[in-house]
Amino acid sequence: MPELRIDPIAGRKVLIAEDRAGRPNDFESAGASSCPFCAGHEQRTPRSLLEISDGQGGWQVRVIPNLYPAVSLDCDKISNDSSFQASGSQPAYGTHEVIVESPRHIQDITELSTEELAQVLLVYRDRLQHWSEEKSIQHATVFKNVGRVAGASLEHIHSQLVALPFVPEVIANEIRGAKQFYERKGTCIFCRLLQEELEQGERLVGEEGPFVAFCAYAGRQPFETWVLPKQHASHFKQLTDDEAHSLASLLQQVVCRLQTQLKPLSYNLILHTAPFGDQTPDSYHWHLEIIPRTAQLAGFEWGAGVHINSLLPERAAKLLREAIA
Ligand SMILES: [Zn+2]
Ligand SMILES: [Zn+2]
Ligand SMILES: [Zn+2]
Repeated sequence: MPELRIDPIAGRKVLIAEDRAGRPNDFESAGASSCPFCAGHEQRTPRSLLEISDGQGGWQVRVIPNLYPAVSLDCDKISNDSSFQASGSQPAYGTHEVIVESPRHIQDITELSTEELAQVLLVYRDRLQHWSEEKSIQHATVFKNVGRVAGASLEHIHSQLVALPFVPEVIANEIRGAKQFYERKGTCIFCRLLQEELEQGERLVGEEGPFVAFCAYAGRQPFETWVLPKQHASHFKQLTDDEAHSLASLLQQVVCRLQTQLKPLSYNLILHTAPFGDQTPDSYHWHLEIIPRTAQLAGFEWGAGVHINSLLPERAAKLLREAIA
C-alpha cells in the first residue's frame, strides 16, 4: 500500500511505493512479443477504464489502472511503525492511470498520425474532466516519460496520469507566482510571456494555429521547450476538438526538431493545468513542458535545487528552428 510521507524538516511530500520496484523493464527484451501494451496482450493488463475504438473492432487508445501505482484510491490503512507516523504519514490517496496511446509497438509521438495524437490529447482532456468531478481529488498531472533516461520502464508509447487530493508543490509555486503577478499587473503572466516571446522571436520554436512553442527563458536542461495556447485558458479540459488537432501537430513538430538535435531523444513531457477547484482562473494558464533529458541530475541539482543548463535557450531555439528548414 503506497504511503505519503511528509519530510518533517522541509515539508516535502514523498510517495513511498515499494511495489513499484517490481515494475517490468522491457528495454532489454524482445519488444512487441513480450509487451503488455501491444494489441492482443490486453489480458496482461487490468481491464480498461476507457477505450477509444478504432472503428474496426479494435481499440486506438486505452486507459488502464497502473499495475504498480504510486497512489491508490482504496487505501485505508498503512503499515509502518515510524516514529514520525503521527505527524507526517498518511495513506497515499489518489489515482494512477496509464494511457496506452496506440495498439502498435511504437515509441514516440512522431510515429502516430496527427489524428491519432489529437485523439490521445482528447483522452487527456476527458480523464481530467472525469477526475475534476471527484470531490476528494484536487489536481492531476499528466506526463510522458520517453526513453529509459527519462524514466520509462516500458518502451511502448504511453502516458500517465496521477491525480492527488492536494496540489503538488511545483504547481502550487507556479500558481503563487502567477497570482502575485496578476495582483500587481492585472494580467496573466503566461499571456504576457507568450506575447513577448512572439514579438521578440529569439526563443520561438514554432507556431500552429492557436498554439505557440518556445524555449523556456530559464530552461533547466538544454532545449527545454514550452507549448502554450495563445488565448488564455487555465484548464486543459477547455481544449476543443479542433484545437487538439493543432496542438498535436505542433507537438509532433517540436519533437521532430528535438530528434534532429538529440540522438537518441529521451524526454519528459508534462502537462501543467490549474487545480480542479481553482478559484483564480484568470491568473493561471495551462501549458506543456517538454524537458529533454540530456544529463543526469547531479549533486548540485539534488543538493541545492539549482539546475545548471549548458546551452543558452536562445541558441537552443535557433538550432531547433534551423533543424527543419
Ligand atoms: Zn508494445
Ligand atoms: Zn494567460
Ligand atoms: Zn509549468
